[in-house]
Amino acid sequence: MTAENQRADMQGAHCDVPADLWRACPDCNQLLYARDLEANLWVCDKCGSHFRLSVWQRLQVTVDADSFTVWDGDLPLTDPLDFPDYLGKAQKAREKTGMSEAALTGRATLDGIPLAIGLMDLSFIGGSMGWGVGELVTRLMERAIDQHLPVVIFCASGGARMQESLISLMQMAKTSGAAGRLRAAGLPYISVLTHPTYGGVTASFAFLGDFIIAEQGAAMGFAGPRVVEVTGLRMPPGVQTAEFQYEHGMIDMLLPRREIRPALHTMLRWCML
Ligand SMILES: [Zn+2]
Repeated sequence: MTAENQRADMQGAHCDVPADLWRACPDCNQLLYARDLEANLWVCDKCGSHFRLSVWQRLQVTVDADSFTVWDGDLPLTDPLDFPDYLGKAQKAREKTGMSEAALTGRATLDGIPLAIGLMDLSFIGGSMGWGVGELVTRLMERAIDQHLPVVIFCASGGARMQESLISLMQMAKTSGAAGRLRAAGLPYISVLTHPTYGGVTASFAFLGDFIIAEQGAAMGFAGPRVVEVTGLRMPPGVQTAEFQYEHGMIDMLLPRREIRPALHTMLRWCML
């Protein structure tokens, strides 16, 4: 059966196959069997498109099963500027994602090697960094120092959280300071840039890793394409891609998803022997 026939079949009025058995690739539109897609780490086997992962899926493909323990999952929501509808939006994001903020942090093992790990999710208010994300990343690094652990952070962010204005921008300095203390303690920090990584996160802890890995196909930059468009300036095509940044020396490794875990294993072994 061709993909077109399968799609037509799935959309038929009398189709009794559960829709969640199949996922359409956003790039090539091929229908993919969900179980095969998961086995392929949510990468399309037809065109290589990397599906965006939740933090829970990212943990599943990165660390040892059942090894993750969350840190600071009880962080309160704050609304320092009394911004209209902000707390309600944040509460909804909590219910949708199962996360307390746009970052999830904790301790896990990777092939038995203990590490402090942070992950970000665009589904939580665009993965934006306000006080909560800044605090989680800072505490992650400080606990890593206390427990003598390497740090790995999977970054994904639209940038600073506009509802927190300058308090959001302060998180850039706070997380950068924590990364500096981690470095002074002699502990490695590996930053993994996933699709997309922009704004205040790019301009702070995302690009401060001792090793900076980018996942294939990830977009990255400071001002995102929509912001640049508002300025009326024209940006050459392809500039804000992992591939361009790799070619121009901004990142150390450009890897398909399947190779990220083995690369982390190798680097952590080197660093923590
Ligand atoms: Zn595809």
